[in-house]
Amino acid sequence: MTPVLEVRDLTKHFAVRKGLLRRAVGKVHAVDGVSFAIMPGETLGLVGESGCGKSTVGRTAMRLIEPTGGTIRLKGQDITTLGRGALRPHRRDMQIIFQDPYASLNPRIPAGAIVGEPMRVHGLGDAQAREEKVAALFQRVGLRAAQMKNYPHEFSGGQRQRIGIARALALDPALIIGDEPVSALDVSIQAQVINLLKDLQQERGLSYLFIAHDLAVVRHISHRVAVMYLGRIVEVAETKALFATPQHPYTEALLAAVPVADPRKRRPRRIIQGDVPSPIRPPPGCHFHTRCPYAEARCREVAPPLKQVAPGHSVACHLR
Ligand code: SF4
Repeated sequence: MTPVLEVRDLTKHFAVRKGLLRRAVGKVHAVDGVSFAIMPGETLGLVGESGCGKSTVGRTAMRLIEPTGGTIRLKGQDITTLGRGALRPHRRDMQIIFQDPYASLNPRIPAGAIVGEPMRVHGLGDAQAREEKVAALFQRVGLRAAQMKNYPHEFSGGQRQRIGIARALALDPALIIGDEPVSALDVSIQAQVINLLKDLQQERGLSYLFIAHDLAVVRHISHRVAVMYLGRIVEVAETKALFATPQHPYTEALLAAVPVADPRKRRPRRIIQGDVPSPIRPPPGCHFHTRCPYAEARCREVAPPLKQVAPGHSVACHLR
């Protein structure tokens, strides 16, 4: 089966500029050789601390920002270097939902027009057909068609995220990238939005790249989870395996920080020492060696490749 999205050795470096002449004095290694594939109907969770490059992966995979290197295939077609015009039909197949629905919705446009805009831009249907489709989408995401006339400020945070989901669905995409789509919502609303996304996936065979810093949230929606640290994927596995038998010291530490209700199931706390190093000067070798309790001499010199340790379970660590 052809993956809906496949990225290989994706890299994204941002220039660091200083002074009046804005001269480049360095670069931020935001994404540093990331590879993964997402199959039809699958959700891949992408987790890591703030600043690890996970949002940049999402935006680069969509070509909202240009990659520095690597390839991006959408439904088997290489879209890495397609020009604006050639990319346009592919944009219908991939949509994004942002963390802050309020910031991503134009406050001066009624919600119905916001949801219908992608169809208008892509020249789909006449005004009446678009209005009917928007009304159906409103109902599908748990809003009333009568609310199409309301402005974003008249909705709650959870309702605004439902508008964002309806807009993402308007073009019947194959893939939705959720960039921390529930992080700004209350816990009870988070669960409702995640359940809605899961139902929509069942109905439409959607694929998701679900980006979040919170492992507990990712667990509820993902079939597989990839863990990122300083621009690299350090572990990827089926969700159950990742939570039951984490193999990378960084994943272990992230899991130790996830609250567990049953005290008998609490994991031993292994707190990570120190801060995340600057992505302008990432540590050589294994990027995690400055904080890893198991680091050895070779970890400071040689970057461990991502290698398979069990079926569907890969880890980048010299000790595995
Ligand atoms: Fe720790 Fe070395 Fe493994 Fe990196 S390669 S996670 S530093 S043990």
